[in-house]
Parts: sequence; structure tokens; C-alpha cells
Amino acid sequence: MNEIRTRFAPSPTGYLHVGGLRTALYNFLFARKNNGKFILRIEDTDRSRYVEGAVENLIQTLKWCDLFYDEGPDVDGPYGPYIQSQRLEIYREHVEKLVQKGYAYYCFCSPERLAALREEQLKLKVPQIKYDKHCLKLSPQEVQKKLESGEKYVIRLNIPENQTVKFYDIIRGEIEFDTNFIDDQVLLKSDGYPTYHLANVVDDHLMKITHVIRGEEWLSSTPKHILLYEYFGWEKPQFAHLPLLLNPDRSKLSKRQGDVAVEEYRAKGYLKEALINFVALLGWNAGDDREFYYLNELIEKFSLEGVNKSGAVFDLNKLLWLNGEHIRKKSVEDLLPLLKDEIKKSKYASQNFSDEYLKLVISAMQERIDFVHEIITKSYYFFERPISYEEKAIQKNWKQETPEHLNLLVDALEKLDNPSKEDYEKALNSVAEKLQISKGKIIHPLRLALSGTSAGPGIFDLLYTLGKEESIIRIKNAIQNITYKEPKTS
Ligand code: GLU
Repeated sequence: MNEIRTRFAPSPTGYLHVGGLRTALYNFLFARKNNGKFILRIEDTDRSRYVEGAVENLIQTLKWCDLFYDEGPDVDGPYGPYIQSQRLEIYREHVEKLVQKGYAYYCFCSPERLAALREEQLKLKVPQIKYDKHCLKLSPQEVQKKLESGEKYVIRLNIPENQTVKFYDIIRGEIEFDTNFIDDQVLLKSDGYPTYHLANVVDDHLMKITHVIRGEEWLSSTPKHILLYEYFGWEKPQFAHLPLLLNPDRSKLSKRQGDVAVEEYRAKGYLKEALINFVALLGWNAGDDREFYYLNELIEKFSLEGVNKSGAVFDLNKLLWLNGEHIRKKSVEDLLPLLKDEIKKSKYASQNFSDEYLKLVISAMQERIDFVHEIITKSYYFFERPISYEEKAIQKNWKQETPEHLNLLVDALEKLDNPSKEDYEKALNSVAEKLQISKGKIIHPLRLALSGTSAGPGIFDLLYTLGKEESIIRIKNAIQNITYKEPKTS
């Protein structure tokens, strides 16, 4: 059997759409699963949509997601170049072959004539607005004359009338299109650039693509591609059209309803593991209800048979949940560089925290966050001393006798030498015992003193992470700064 070769063929629009990421991912998974090759091809033949830096951004985003390709603009390979704007000669050569065989023809119609034609067809309410093959009637001599006189032209595909184009889609089964509903597609534009259809088919053939896996929005283009393969006399690849991505209200996923750019999710602090996991489930499942996957597990489980036909709802809550899950499953070592990146972006950027300290902070917070940056926002007190104390918690937990209790605790802490978590626990227990009070009477105000808040990691994690010296300073500060409030009597 031939080697399986898939491709991701984005048009560089400036950002990678989450739908594009899914297409890239499924192509990648299918190739990897079958020991095939995954190719990146840049489809940049629409010059009006050219965006500076878009290709670099796209490549960077794919690599950030760990979707490495075997052939592409910056890795090269036997069938390059992998950027369509560098292959213009190839398309011209090929389209000319079609013209010679009568499968394509020169069209010199002016934009005005085309607009009038459209207008007229609209008025007549024809079932399909189409070019009327006017220029197909030109004799070869007439065509030659017009070309020599420099008239502007396009080259169109000569779609036959009254035929049915059939093909098999791996996800959707047999599909048929009536050629009477297909326009004589422009293949080569007046600026000399090919249209998507020509370049896409020529490249898929020359790059030996065996499986074309792409979004459902390309399904209506496929009959034109099938005809092109037939006219060129080439073997067709297999097709698989992925289901649409939908908003929760089942409308088509659009920029208006939220973020669609992978880069934006990355900037918001989503992990690549969570994004990939989430995107994999947009239209695919392994036949069970498992939801948590790593990329290598996806490679193992993925199949095109597991892809659904019906639209896949983009559920942000699920992405959020997966992000938290992936964070919780990561090792402290793996989270360390991510936390450091977040610190660099924060107001604590100029401070120096040791790796040892940051690892303790991560251990204390890992179970309590959905984003790495929440380590900073939810527990800023690990990065600076409390700047205020929660008013409600003072009312509730700071009693008249609290300073005395905490002073005793300070005494006990001072006696400790390089304490472990258990040592802190023992010290606190002994103070509670001596005072004949419940531990809670010390723990709540202690937490307030250490962190300024009433929630957070376990109290011994907090003490252990901050360390003895810092804990003592904070307790003393709190005793000085918090004033006892008489309980409100009504
Ligand atoms: N260039 C098309 C896009 O932007 C590729 C579609 C296809 O995969 O054939 O998605």
C-alpha cells in the first residue's frame, strides 16, 4: 500500500482559527497513526487577502501545539516549494494542458458583462447563477488574436451539462452533485494567479496526498476537484469532510460570538495540551465517553470512522474544565517554567523567587486553579506580604484574645529548627492544647495573618511554603495592623 500522506493547507489570514487547528490536528493524527506523512502547505494565492507575518505566525502556533509536520515551508521535502505563490509556473503549465484538451477555456468577458449577466439571471430566477459559456464559442484564431492584443482574460473550467459527479466521503458516504448546478469555475485569474481549486488539486496530486481531510465548508468545491482529477487523468485522493463547528445556540461558530483564534486562547493562558484535547473532541470520539487525552493517546485512538457528520458544539466550559484537569495532572517541574512565564508578565517580574520556593507555591496551589496565572491572582500573598486583610474575616475570626494566641504560636515557631509540615502542625496543636481552645480558633486568624484572606491552601502548606521567618514576620505584622472589632449587637 502507498504511504499515507495528509496535508493542512491553510490560507494565511493572520491567525489560526480553532476550526483550522482541528483540521490540522485530524490530519496530523491520521498521518501519525498510520505511519504516514503530514504536510503543511500554504495556500496564499489570493493576493487581496495577503497579511504580513501571517505564515510565520501560523507556523509558530502549529509548533506551539506540537503539531510538527514532515514537509512544509521551513522543513522542505521532495515536493516543494510548499508555498503556492512560489509555484505559479506549475499551475500555468497545468491549466494550459486542460485548455489544449478542451476541458478549460479562455474567457475575456469584462466585469461589466458578467455583472449584467448575473443581473439578468437573478431577474429570471434561474435555479443556479452561472457563467453562460459565452467565450467557449470563440474560435482558436479569435482566442489567439485576443491574447496577442493583450486582452485581459481568465481561464475557466468547462463543466459539462447534465452529468452527475459522484464521490465517496469517508465521513459522509456517497455524495452526488448535479453538474447543472456548478458554475464554470475560474481556474486562472487575470492576475496570473491560480484560484484555490486549481492550485489545490494540482498540489494535492503533485505532493502525492492520499487523504484530503478538511472542513465541511469545502464539500461543495469537491465536485469541481473531482472533475479536475478526471480531466488531468489523475488518481483521486480519498476525501473526508469534517463537521461544522457550532456555537452553543447551534449557529455557525463565528468571531462575533467569542474567540476563534488559537493565539487568543494561548494568550489567555490555556495550555496547549488542553486545547489539543478539547479540539480533538470537536466531532470525534473513540466510541466511549472518555474525555481526557494526551496527544500521544489521541494518535493511538484516532480514526476517521470515529468522526461524526453532525455539527460539533464548541463548549467553552469543557475547555476550561480540561485546562484545570491538565494542570492538575502536570508535574510541579513541568508547571515551573509556565509559572515563571506568568511572573514575567506580572508586576512581580523584577523580583527573584527561587525555583525551590516557586515549586512549593505550585504544590500548594495546583489543585485550586484552572489557569497557571491564577497562582498569582488567587494567591498573590506568595509573592508579596498581605497588603490588606479581608474585612469580613476580621469580623468573624479576629477576637480580642487572638493577638495573645498568636504570640504564643510565634514563641512556639521560634523554637523550631528547619521545620517540616508536621512540625508546624505539632507546634500549633501544642499551643491549642495549652490554651485549651480548638485549633480552629488559631487556624482562622493565622490564615488571615499569613495571607490576608480567608481561603487558600491548607494552613500547614501555607506555613511550610512561606517558611518560618516569613510566617513569623507576617504574624507580627498582623498583630500590629489588625484592630479587633467589637461584634455587632443588634
Ligand atoms: N486553503 C483552504 C483553506 O484555507 C484549504 C481547503 C482544503 O483543505 O482544501 O482552508
